[in-house]
Amino acid sequence: MAKPQKQLMFAAVGGECACGRCGAPCKVNPVPGSKAKWLKAADKPKGLCINCAVHDHVRRLYPTNLILAQSAGRTLLDPGAQRLFWDLAVMHGVDAKFEDVDWGAIVAKWDLPFPSKLRRSAQNPVTEEELAMARLEGEQRRAGTYKEPMTEEEYQAQRQAAIDEFLGVMHKESHADPSPDHRDGG
Ligand SMILES: [Zn+2]
Repeated sequence: MAKPQKQLMFAAVGGECACGRCGAPCKVNPVPGSKAKWLKAADKPKGLCINCAVHDHVRRLYPTNLILAQSAGRTLLDPGAQRLFWDLAVMHGVDAKFEDVDWGAIVAKWDLPFPSKLRRSAQNPVTEEELAMARLEGEQRRAGTYKEPMTEEEYQAQRQAAIDEFLGVMHKESHADPSPDHRDGG
């Protein structure tokens, strides 16, 4: 079970800052019960805005992170998917309000890097590089240019063909040019 996302809870400190990822203005809630939307859990005015915090959360949820990577986050524009992800987030301790999240902004800012790199964990076996690969695959599938990765047999056949071609060229050259440099092994 993942630790609750503390950054989304109320804290008894106030202040303003920019989101550490997208630069959106954030307010740390100075008074419990105030209407401030951002960084409710911060113990100091530093961190991610609520949209980046939600993205930060879902990028650690396997296998949803792979599925989301394939659509560059666009799956999150589906209201049904939003509810599904939100239920998961709440199960993991997020206590922000669903209405506070701007899903369109999450998708629009999908490619911005996070201050911390995604790491493998007990809950998440994929790295940032693997998410990037999934994203590329999704793009290629949508564009109709996706090719299944080569099987071991295909790879070996292609490798053998390249070797044969290389040897063929070498063979021709050794016949065309009888200088000693080209007669190695012959
Ligand atoms: Zn942000």
